[in-house]
Amino acid sequence: DTPDTARDDAGPVASPASAAAPEYLRLEGLAKRFGETQVLSQIDAEIAKGEFVTLLGPSGCGKSTLLRAIAGLNQLDDGRIVVDDEEITALPPQRRGIGMVFQHYALFPNMRVSDNVAFGLRMQKVPQEERRRRIDEVLRLVELQAHANKFPHQLSGGQCQRVALARALVVEPRILLMDEPLSALDARIRGHLREQLRDIQQTLGLTTLFVTHDQEEALMMSDRIFLMHDGRILQQGAAEELYTRPSGRHAAGFMGHYN
Ligand code: ADP
Ligand code: MG
Repeated sequence: DTPDTARDDAGPVASPASAAAPEYLRLEGLAKRFGETQVLSQIDAEIAKGEFVTLLGPSGCGKSTLLRAIAGLNQLDDGRIVVDDEEITALPPQRRGIGMVFQHYALFPNMRVSDNVAFGLRMQKVPQEERRRRIDEVLRLVELQAHANKFPHQLSGGQCQRVALARALVVEPRILLMDEPLSALDARIRGHLREQLRDIQQTLGLTTLFVTHDQEEALMMSDRIFLMHDGRILQQGAAEELYTRPSGRHAAGFMGHYN
């Protein structure tokens, strides 16, 4: 028998995070207000283990607020966040098992690359030998092993973002959150880093929630897209599905259909 026949027997080819996989990250009824402004309303969503989901929406729709709430960097007014059957809604950020990468890297300017990456491991009191080993491993993963002793100002924007990624990954998070990590980079580097990010994510099987306002980026990278508007998730679906069957006027407009 050829491998093709075997595959036919197994039914249609599923994406790595198939619909049958149990939800790993669950958002239930999340709501958040800043003063009089309702910034998040009734956010309900599930993400499977190993899935790459993009939160896509225009500036000001609440993407960063949602990501920061999942990371524990801002408080919610309502709702529950569950990871791997553990409710984390009230846990402090460092106990959530969540890594985060920001648009502007947020590296420590006075620390070498290796010390930037070591930061989370020091907080966790990981012994020095193991720290070295893990820093080495993760710098190899982001292809920065030759730059371990440099300072951030000696690196390009793309390299800085890879340090930020290494720093997030070194503590082996259950979930990786990335808030417009490519938006500050020039087009050529952005394209390269896009591929590298996706490679690393798939290699590690890492559950990822990625934020962008760039629909092309979302279409190229994601298993699924959550389309956000005005603090709500308007539509969830595979990239092709959102592109070919947007659910309404806002979704159509944002996916590049103007009618
Ligand atoms: P996005 O990341 O999609 O651009 P944000 O989550 O940053 O959107 O912001 C959503 C809305 O919440 C915006 O109207 C913004 O002005 C408001 N907002 C964000 N952070 C704060 C804050 N700390 N205080 C008051 N309003 C805020
Ligand atoms: Mg934002």
